[in-house]
Parts: sequence; C-alpha cells; structure tokens
Amino acid sequence: LVRLRARLSRSQNALGKGLLTLLSREHLDEDTWEEVEDTLLTADVGVQPTQELVERLRERVKVLGTRTPQELRGLLREELLTLVGADLDRTVKTEPAPGKPGIVMVVGVNGTGKTTTTGKLARVLVADGRSVVLGAADTFRAAAADQLQTWGERVGAYTVRGPEGGDPASVAFDAVKEGKEMGADVVLIDTAGRLHTKTGLMDELGKVKRVVEKHAPLDEVLLVLDATTGQNGLVQARVFAEVVDITGIVLTKLDGTAKGGIVVAVQRELDVPVKLVGLGEGADDLAPFEPEAFVDALIG
Ligand code: GDP
Repeated sequence: LVRLRARLSRSQNALGKGLLTLLSREHLDEDTWEEVEDTLLTADVGVQPTQELVERLRERVKVLGTRTPQELRGLLREELLTLVGADLDRTVKTEPAPGKPGIVMVVGVNGTGKTTTTGKLARVLVADGRSVVLGAADTFRAAAADQLQTWGERVGAYTVRGPEGGDPASVAFDAVKEGKEMGADVVLIDTAGRLHTKTGLMDELGKVKRVVEKHAPLDEVLLVLDATTGQNGLVQARVFAEVVDITGIVLTKLDGTAKGGIVVAVQRELDVPVKLVGLGEGADDLAPFEPEAFVDALIG
C-alpha cells in the first residue's frame, strides 16, 4: 500500500493537488469552477462524472461557507472516493471448485500489457501459496507463448502452449485439462488481442470461453487496458464487452501517466470495477486497486 501510494504520487498527484489548490481560492467564481472541470477532464475522468462531481463540490463548498484547508481536503477526499467507487467489490475471484481449478481469462488488445499482467498475477498467486497453470492461448503472436513461458519459469508456474498459429481454444482446453490433472488451484489463460478484425476476435474469444466453460466455471474475465491510451481504452473496452462478460479491469502503465481519471471513466463505461493496476514492468509491479491509496496519492 505504501509502495503503491509512493509510486502513484510520483506521477499523478497533479489532479488532486490541482483541485485542492483551486478550491482553496478565496472567491470561487465561474472561472474557477471551469478550471476544476478542465482539471478533471484533462485527467480523463470523463464528461458526465466530471459534471456530477463539480455539482456536488459546488453544493458542499457553498454549505461549508468558510473553508479550512483540512475541511477542504476532507471534502475533496470524500468526493473523489465516491467518484472512484470506494465500496465496489474488487476481489479477483480465483476460488477452485472441488476438483476444479479456478479459471481466469485475461483479454485485451496487444501491447496493453496482457502477457505481463498474466505473469505478474501468477506471481502474486504463487506467492500466496497457490499452484498455477498458465495457458498461452495467444498463438498468433510468435513471441507471446515464449514470453508467457518465461514468466512461468520465473514465478514457478507450468505453461501449456500449442503450435504457433494453432487454435487458441484448443490451448485453453489443454491448459484447463492440465490444470485439473495436476490438481492446480488456478489456471490463467492469456489470449490474443488483435482488433483489426472484430469478427475474428469475437469468434476466437467466444470459442475460448465456451471451451473453457465446458470444463469448469470461469471465475474472472479480466480486461487489460493501457492507462496511457485515454479515450482509446474506452473504445477497446466497449468492443471487448460486446464479446465476453468482463468481470474486472486491469489498468496497466499507471506509472507512466497523470491521467488516473481513466479509472473512473472505464468503470462507468463497463459498470465493472478496476481490480488491479500495473505500476511498472517488473514482477512485483501489480497491485490491487485501493481506492483510498489512489485518492490519497491524488491529493498528495
Ligand atoms: P501484450 O501484447 O498485451 O501481452 O503486452 P505485453 O505484456 O507484452 O506488454 C507490452 C509492454 O508493456 C511490455 O514492454 C511490458 O513490459 C510493458 N508493460 C506492461 N505492464 C506495464 C506497466 O504496468 N507499466 C509499464 N511501465 N509497462 C508495462
């Protein structure tokens, strides 16, 4: 938590600090409120959430009258917590059923950090004492299976892979079968994410999902989005949500952006919580999304 706070505050305290400074002005006129809006919009919070937040802030600041810095900070903290959905359930569900491993499918556009996230998640689970099987169902990108296998060797998880260009669904099938036979606790399936043919993607992911579900219930479908891609990430989110039921979002590369507001925008878009965040390329750079730490890092 402390580390997350430090990492986040390094890159993105612009939003919260900016808001706090604006709200501290003696006279809050129309121009100031517009600046508040601009700050939120620049951070990718999105139009509707921004308007709602500004409306609530205006009302509360009015009620407050004179404002001490502590009062303002508390107020801003509360409102930002509401905005990011402080009470959403963000548990990554990986509970095995009797005789069946928990199954997590990881989806997203290539380059967003899907394979890295799968590897990091495996590490977290293994560190937690769980045995993990990785399924390299991204058979399209030549290096993807190698990359995943390297992660597997690094973190102590067995990787199931197929021939290059092979059928992703059959790799997923084999991974779950292997997971069952080995008595593994969790099977993580990395999938391909080429968006250039939407129908191809739909067919492929739909098939992977159906094949997996023949074996055991799918616990999670995690959508990986690159936080630095802004509105583009929202477009991707929509496309994937049409194909599979997303149960959680992983926002990667939050270390490289001041646009943390995307957390709010994407949760609204899909009505699904951000469960994990990527804060770097290293094996330990995956953290649960903690609204409190996030907001505190924003405000500084
Ligand atoms: P995939 O094509 O979606 O599987 O993407 P990869 O897992 O290969 O990741 C693409 C690039 O993003 C790699 O260079 C990763 O090291 C990098 N990456 C992944 N997650 C993060 C993150 O949270 N922060 C940063 N800075 N880089 C990341």
